[in-house]
Amino acid sequence: MRIRLYNTLTKSVEDFVPVSGTSSVKMYTCGPTVYNYAHIGNIRSFLFADLLQRVLRTVGNYDVQWVMNITDIDDKTIRDSAIGSEIWKKEMGEQTDNPNENIAKFTRFFEKEFINDITNTGIEQSHFYNIPRATEYISEMQDLIRRICENGFGYVSEGSVYFSLSAWLRQSEYGRLFAVDIEHFRAGVRIDADEYDRESVSDFVLWKARKEGEPYWDFQISDENVTGRPGWHIECSAMGHKILGLPFDIHTGGVDLRFPHHEDEIAQSKAGYGLETANFWCHHEFLEVEGKKMSKSLGNFFTLHDLMEKGYDPMDIRFLMLSVHYASVMNFTFSGIESAQKARKRIQDFIYYLFDTTQFGTENASIKHEVFEALADNLHTPKALEHIFSFINQTDTKQLSQESKESLIEEFRQFNNIFNVWEIAPKAEEIIPQEVIDLAEQRIDAKKNKNFAESDRLRNEIVQKGYLIKDTKDGYTLELSER
Ligand code: AMP
Ligand code: ZN
Repeated sequence: MRIRLYNTLTKSVEDFVPVSGTSSVKMYTCGPTVYNYAHIGNIRSFLFADLLQRVLRTVGNYDVQWVMNITDIDDKTIRDSAIGSEIWKKEMGEQTDNPNENIAKFTRFFEKEFINDITNTGIEQSHFYNIPRATEYISEMQDLIRRICENGFGYVSEGSVYFSLSAWLRQSEYGRLFAVDIEHFRAGVRIDADEYDRESVSDFVLWKARKEGEPYWDFQISDENVTGRPGWHIECSAMGHKILGLPFDIHTGGVDLRFPHHEDEIAQSKAGYGLETANFWCHHEFLEVEGKKMSKSLGNFFTLHDLMEKGYDPMDIRFLMLSVHYASVMNFTFSGIESAQKARKRIQDFIYYLFDTTQFGTENASIKHEVFEALADNLHTPKALEHIFSFINQTDTKQLSQESKESLIEEFRQFNNIFNVWEIAPKAEEIIPQEVIDLAEQRIDAKKNKNFAESDRLRNEIVQKGYLIKDTKDGYTLELSER
């Protein structure tokens, strides 16, 4: 089925067609900065990318090469792995006096936690083509910076390297993803921060001069020795080029990354390699708490750890996030998780009924087309779930034919390739508690002794404990009653 996606580059919903002209699709996701535990706003970001790549595979029948980088060198990882950092003291044990070693140890720790978190929320590692660490692509970054300078779009100043926006604006557009404030642009003003706002459009940093006590790498531009570390934006340009080749099909991230991160990525790759970055740019909206973006700096965040500690099932969190359209702001509440839990269970129970082979009717039913249509329509998960719920409400599984039950199981298996929150199997036998078995045994004895009042009383007690007992010629069967 043809997939339609909103493309931030063209500001419209477009038919998705792979660059390759084959079934192979290349997708790059801006990954986490591994300086702390991921909060569930970050998790929304990766669940969106996961949804997209799963829809491409299952609805579009594409082979997806999905790359998500790990930002293990930037302002924040350096700050929090430095000598005396609070978070280091809390989590990491001994520090050495080698900053390169410290930052590697620190970021590996949070990378592992991150992979754990996304695995808990149903993202499968086997779906990734590569999860590159920025520090393992330093020479590619240096090579790109050198090319940008040689092509006249970069210069060295006080040991750092900057992208010359005035040189770039003479020949190219800037602000293709996001309406930047070019009027405020002043030639020659430089910005060293990785993150800045639209009023601060200026020459941005490609490489930051070495600072005492910080990790560093050396290289040469023309005859000049440069020492220090990469800026954040150059990392993704170099990794995307090296691993996927440019232009690839889809680049994803949160709306906050449209500018400056993605805008700068586009400019760098065009200025250095002469290539466009991606055909489709797909951005998801924020997770908010009481009208504010969930973020570490505002302190209004929950990590997945926090929620699991409180006893929430990460599958309910996944389901909750997938039940809101990715392009809508999502408001996080605990009652939201509870409703998601109920809704997920309702679909799960329906799937269990489909596996019931004790009763068949004559009706046929299917719902795959509507659900896939909704997903192909710019990943409209709420609409897809609406179709599933109205189908469940209208369908009496006892009336379904055997073939129909089997084909519906197959349909739900495919939906689950995307949602990944259900069990596509018969309900596992519950283990019957010993006390219920004891009651059943006492009841058999009572019956043998023709003490029918006692046997009735025992049956009642068994039912009150939530079990059904049926007499058979060899004795009895016990099962959980459907409530
Ligand atoms: P970071 O680890 O800060 O580099 O962020 C990783 C991803 O999380 C980026 O794609 C951000 O856009 C995204 N992100 C950060 N905060 C939120 C939020 N509150 N809701 C949704 N996505 C977010
Ligand atoms: Zn990135």
